[in-house]
Amino acid sequence: MNKTKMIATIGPASKNKEIIKNMIIEGVDVIRINMSHSNFDEAKEIIFSTREIDRELSTSTGIMIDTRGPEIRIGKLEKPKIKLEKGKTIRISKSNVIGNANVISTTLPEIIKYCKMGEKLLLNDGNVELVVVSKDEDSLVCFINNDGLIVSNCSINIPDADFDLKFLSNYDKETVKFAVLMQVDYLALSHVKSQMDVLDINDLLIELNDNHIQMISKIENKSAIDEIKGILKVSDGVMIARGDLGVEVDIEKIPSIQKKIATLTKESEKICVIATEMLLTMQDNPRPTRAEVSDVANAVLDKTDAVMLSSETAVGKYPVETVKTMNKIIDEIEKEINYNELLLEYVRKEKLDISMAIAYSSVDSANRVKAGAIVCSTMSGDTAKKISNYRPGCPVIALSPDEKTIRGLSINYGILPMTVSMVDSTDEIVNMSVNAAKKLLNLSQGKKIVIAGSFPLKSVDYTNFMKIEEIK
Ligand code: PGA
Repeated sequence: MNKTKMIATIGPASKNKEIIKNMIIEGVDVIRINMSHSNFDEAKEIIFSTREIDRELSTSTGIMIDTRGPEIRIGKLEKPKIKLEKGKTIRISKSNVIGNANVISTTLPEIIKYCKMGEKLLLNDGNVELVVVSKDEDSLVCFINNDGLIVSNCSINIPDADFDLKFLSNYDKETVKFAVLMQVDYLALSHVKSQMDVLDINDLLIELNDNHIQMISKIENKSAIDEIKGILKVSDGVMIARGDLGVEVDIEKIPSIQKKIATLTKESEKICVIATEMLLTMQDNPRPTRAEVSDVANAVLDKTDAVMLSSETAVGKYPVETVKTMNKIIDEIEKEINYNELLLEYVRKEKLDISMAIAYSSVDSANRVKAGAIVCSTMSGDTAKKISNYRPGCPVIALSPDEKTIRGLSINYGILPMTVSMVDSTDEIVNMSVNAAKKLLNLSQGKKIVIAGSFPLKSVDYTNFMKIEEIK
């Protein structure tokens, strides 16, 4: 079982139930729906299909809704892809026209008022550069600085914009309400700039009485990099969203930004996701480039919680093969990690509380006795996350009677979540743990497992015991 989790974005190429099912069979842990491209009906269908698949396969696939954010996109085009030619001009219109090589619409018509003459606009993750050469009340006329492709709903970045967009749009408010109604597990927050933006969403979740959804802040602009410590404090995790980031900051800075944020995120014991263009070539080809394989490997060696596929699975020709390829890379690279050495890196300077002490000891013991698994009973998922944060060498089986708790662990490093019925004695916890390890990992006789749980069950709500058990 791989420890680095895989997130796959669902789109026109993969929304069919059989394709989602095959991607889950090939190792996808979390399904992502990008609300910049999907509407509520499509999202609902994907969520229902995923839940049905979970029932058929006895899996617990996490669901992530990615908000549109205060971003600017072009509207729909006549054809899926249109080539823009250097030296020509294109009009950005206020009205909702279907776009072509001469005119496009935008999701934020206000830019027509705000953009100055000479303003630089980047389309489709920076693929095409435009410069405003004239403007009137209804449109901007832009000179095309280079040949390049644009696609329906692709991004517009204005790197030197000196106007601020309101963070929580009405569409995003509806998206958050939808996410709560559908009981999804993760909200990826697009274009966060500061801690306040995350708190805005948190306030809305509180207003909606939600205590389940985890907030993953997307780091994709300069301001978010500067404000990373504050953002981490109030988020459940971050996604290093290299698509927009590569347009908003100089592209050569991305690798060091990725390393720094991944390290800081792990130190803060928050979820870290690396995203975008990981296997981009596989959008059109059955094989990735060597550089892409190395990119996935780098994220695995950094022990990030999850790696993400975007357009490769959303609109690519080979969604299932891409997942298979990513799975094989993760499997191969994880064999190279020395988990014993790793634990030394994680010894915290601060005082450990009881459940953290048990988490640390479980991982240390598991590494020493070469255990086949750490099995942990958890109501909130907290202890399983603490164990995962020490990056053990064996899988962490998390058992909980609460289905939402189980799905909420689908993104965390090395956790294999499983729904179980409620038990009320330590003997039952031990039996249930042994059975789960045998069932999920097929552990053979003589193999050891480390069990972490709570006793007495009714009066403590934290993990306070650890036991090493041998499979009979
Ligand atoms: P997107 O976010 O897929 O919504 O563009 C990811 C990124 O910008 O990297």
